[in-house]
Formats: sequence, structure tokens, C-alpha cells
Amino acid sequence: MESLSVARYFCQNVEFTTTNRGSVEGNHGRPDFPTNKLCRNTLIVNGIMPLIHDYYCTNETCGFAGPSGWGYYMYAEADDGERISCPHPGEQAKAREVIGEDATEEELDNRTGFNYYCVCVDCVEQFDRDPQRDQLRCPNCESTAIELLVELVGQPCPECGDGDFVAEDTGAIA
Ligand SMILES: [Zn+2]
Ligand SMILES: [Zn+2]
Repeated sequence: MESLSVARYFCQNVEFTTTNRGSVEGNHGRPDFPTNKLCRNTLIVNGIMPLIHDYYCTNETCGFAGPSGWGYYMYAEADDGERISCPHPGEQAKAREVIGEDATEEELDNRTGFNYYCVCVDCVEQFDRDPQRDQLRCPNCESTAIELLVELVGQPCPECGDGDFVAEDTGAIA
């Protein structure tokens, strides 16, 4: 099986790559795009977006798995700061419902984002974070060795080290 130690990232029209796990070194094709940030546009990692995938370890006795889906989801921030999931399709309507039907484009932009499924490589805790806004630090052990679930695809399983962590196409398109 081909190793995917170099992840491939795409936005809507630019492809860029990373040379090591967990850090995005592309500049999005634009010198002003900050490194180590993810594109807010449609981001595809290893080409696995917009199909729904199951994420799991190939070692059957391990059982390590992540949430099914794209590896991330859009959220809208409620008045109290809580992040409300906005599932596809209909995410824009849901965002307006959360933020306010009369919200301006700017308000919508400021109060929406993408939470990624994250995995702590040290203790295998799973949690959701927006890499553009949040510090990637494990809420369980404080480690900063955090991977996005989609970045683990093709890598050895962080739980058992024996199996490979894979993304399997469920055949569903969202
Ligand atoms: Zn941890
Ligand atoms: Zn495993």
C-alpha cells in the first residue's frame, strides 16, 4: 500500500502539500495566506472530501475509530459562544437560524467556521477544534501533538501502532 506520509491539501482551486504530519506548509498559492492555517474554502485532504467516509484502524482487535463524515463540519456561534453544528446541505440556512435571520454577510463570516475532528497522538483523546481559531492542545493530557483525523489517514494507528488508519468511502455523498 502506498504511504501517504505527504498529505495533499486542496482548496477550491489551489493544491498544496505538507511534508510532515500535522503542519500545513502550503501558502495557498498566495504569499499573504498564513502558513499553518487551513483554507476556509472547501478543503480536501488526501482527496477525501466531499464523500462521507468511515475512519478506523485496520487492526480488528484495536477498535480505534473516528466519527464518520468529512472529517470536519461547519458550525455557527450562538450568542452565548456555543458552536452549533450546521450539517450539509442547508448549512447556510442553519447558520442564519443560529446567528440571526437579519445577520449581515460579515456577521455570518465572523461567527461561522469549521470544526475538525482532532486526535491527540499521545493519549488518543478525540475532540473537535477549529484550527483557524483554536489552539490545538489536548484537553485530556495538555499535549500539543494533535492531528486532524483526516491527516491520520494512511498513517500507523495512533492507538495500537500496528494497524493502518484508513478512510473508507461509505458510498454516500453529502
Ligand atoms: Zn492527550
Ligand atoms: Zn489501531
